[in-house]
Amino acid sequence: MLWQKESKKGNALYVDIMKSGGTDFELQDILKELILSTNKNPLPKKCDSVSVQKRKEGNEYYAKQDWPNAMEKYNESLCFATVGSKNISLAYANRASCFLQMKMYKKCLKDIEFAKEAGYPANLMTKLDQRKANCLQYMNDGVQCNEFEAKLSFDPNQKFPCMANVLDVEEDINGNTTVVAKEDIMVGQVLVVERSFISVLFNRFGSKCNICLKSLTNLMPCDGCAVAMFCSVECQKSVIHKYECGSKWCDHPLVNISLTREIRTTLSAINIFSTAGEMMDFIEQTIQDKSKKLPENLADNKSKYRAYLRQQSCVDCIKSSDYQINPIYDAILKIPKINEMFNSKKHRRFLMHLIAQHGLLGCHEPCCNSINQTGIVEGDEISMKSQINNAQSGLMATYFKHSTKPNMLSIRGDGISVGVAVRPIKKGEPILNSCIPLRMDASLRQTSSAKRQQILSDPVYRYIYANHSYKQTFEDDKIRYILDKCISFLRKYGQFEWCAEVVFVMNIYGELMRVRINSQ
Ligand SMILES: [Zn+2]
Ligand SMILES: [Zn+2]
Repeated sequence: MLWQKESKKGNALYVDIMKSGGTDFELQDILKELILSTNKNPLPKKCDSVSVQKRKEGNEYYAKQDWPNAMEKYNESLCFATVGSKNISLAYANRASCFLQMKMYKKCLKDIEFAKEAGYPANLMTKLDQRKANCLQYMNDGVQCNEFEAKLSFDPNQKFPCMANVLDVEEDINGNTTVVAKEDIMVGQVLVVERSFISVLFNRFGSKCNICLKSLTNLMPCDGCAVAMFCSVECQKSVIHKYECGSKWCDHPLVNISLTREIRTTLSAINIFSTAGEMMDFIEQTIQDKSKKLPENLADNKSKYRAYLRQQSCVDCIKSSDYQINPIYDAILKIPKINEMFNSKKHRRFLMHLIAQHGLLGCHEPCCNSINQTGIVEGDEISMKSQINNAQSGLMATYFKHSTKPNMLSIRGDGISVGVAVRPIKKGEPILNSCIPLRMDASLRQTSSAKRQQILSDPVYRYIYANHSYKQTFEDDKIRYILDKCISFLRKYGQFEWCAEVVFVMNIYGELMRVRINSQ
């Protein structure tokens, strides 16, 4: 059905897959529920009394020294404040205090500037000036939290700039890829830093940038709605949110999650091309050319999108994806620019198939192998029950071999994926990748070799074991110190037999790296 045409004639239209509908009854029910519930509850609008309430909630967290939650509430306060109201300046000023407490002084100064620009009340100004003076004093004293920047330990690979040049991707005749080390690599060296190709924030809108998912930074509210924040002018200008701003697809949270992701994927794709015809040519070429899985490069948006389309999708999900096409198709055509771009029957039929194609790639049913392939990850909250917060898709993970005994860990932060060596890797060896956390198998605890006893009595291991709960803090010095201990442990025992202690240290290492990545 997918990408089938009505006839073999050169100018034949793609078949109308929306007419055929889904065949799965359960999914039909979901669709019905979706239609019934859509837009019953409108999106929350800007409202100063809600803004004040959110600021108060933030103050309660602040009093409990829970800076990240306080910050999220101040962010929500910013989102709800009407444009030009003093609530904006008050929320920025309070958020500056959180940054001050977290020793993120540059961000504190930036928020103080934001508060002033937003018209901070003159009668309170001495308080704000005092905060700035304190911040400058701390900076002078040199206790600044070292703001981490995830970067490769080597020059970037020319074809795959998100990967280090000490790695090479090899492809066999069946299209299976392996990434291989071209040089010896040490534990702790960063081999991959990849920004997500598609990122979607579903809820907790005060926690992250709506476009790139950056958190713990100087987020600015969208002027047009109460559910989006941006980390930078660049993200603020992104056309993706411009299209979405003020729109809501559905009240049903799970269906809404799925719709939001599919709509954003399609919007991102449309945004790469200037006409529907250009897009159609590009996609037809990509779909037809099944000869190679490995892209020539991943250096620009078109080649990234080509790689995204080529990633294998789960055959079992093809039939069940029909149900998603209609609401996405309707929602997308409501956007004037897209309605105009896809104004012919030919292009609209093409759009139906494109949406179905994206649905396959984005599938993350538990049965579906494409979870790893598309690199979709649901933030910190893995289960549906605990409310998925965001999803992000990387491309590079597809080309690595996966292993339960990895030599590289992929750590997914906010909108970014970082690959770091966790065992010494020799030139010519394949890179074996895994996400954190690694599974702690009961059998791993059962080996009682002398070697394992050696680890248990090693002071470095004992230190890590006793101090690993620092991952709950934001004290960068402590985190870096434990990370260094983890590196020296893994350099020593990384080639050791696979046992519970090695897995434990790798998980701590990954978790602490994630804390650092998310605070950059
Ligand atoms: Zn951003
Ligand atoms: Zn908006």
